[in-house]
Amino acid sequence: MTKEFFLSINIVSRSAWGAKPWNGTPDTVPLSERTEYFVHYDGGDPVSRTGSSVPQAIERTHRAQGWSGIGYNFAIDQNGVIYEGRGWTLQGAHCPDHNRSGIGVQIAIGGDQAPSEAALRSARALYNEACRRTGRSLAKKGHKDGFATECPGPRLYSWVKAGMPVSGTGIDNGDTPFPGRGAFVLGKTHPAVTALGKRLVAHGFGRFYKEGPGPRFTEADRSATAAFQRAQGWSGSDTDGYPGPTTWSRLMAPAGR
Ligand SMILES: [Zn+2]
Repeated sequence: MTKEFFLSINIVSRSAWGAKPWNGTPDTVPLSERTEYFVHYDGGDPVSRTGSSVPQAIERTHRAQGWSGIGYNFAIDQNGVIYEGRGWTLQGAHCPDHNRSGIGVQIAIGGDQAPSEAALRSARALYNEACRRTGRSLAKKGHKDGFATECPGPRLYSWVKAGMPVSGTGIDNGDTPFPGRGAFVLGKTHPAVTALGKRLVAHGFGRFYKEGPGPRFTEADRSATAAFQRAQGWSGSDTDGYPGPTTWSRLMAPAGR
């Protein structure tokens, strides 16, 4: 993951958005307990608020429910601004049984309102930062993966299920897991072959493709992969053009670092 990408994260602190003092301080959770990243929305009604009124409105609602304050770890408005709620260290109140393991993030939209690209980018950047801090690949989840609810609504849920892609960052396939060597057999199709080809193109090896990339593993894929492997400084059988786990993880990393 690129440095630039992490630098794009700017979190508005609780004091900066005017949070009320905790009404009973929530428990702390060590980063070692965090294994999941939960995406939420605001509910059935579209949201037109942006700015500090976003976390303030959530805080009002959650305090009225008797909670100590805003229940999400973070909230994100449609301008892509991230607001601190429970932050990295405090237990959330956003999804029963997942409030310690899960980092809960609300994107401030409702109904079938479309999330802005800026909001999605920030949510993904925050996810990457959470993975960096915890040292693991957090499971990407929508609220409904942990609880019977409509949240986070159809649009955000399908975005989460697609792997939380964002355009223009080079991390569209950020952490697609290695599918196994059996996915790459000359002449055979596998969905991971398309992902492979797209990442090879992103890393500058598109010249091997006269068409595609597509789901069939062809000589173009093999040649492009071999060139990518040589570009890692490898030699011999490490440059056979068939991706293994190391090739895969290097491909999934952002290009151009
Ligand atoms: Zn929710």
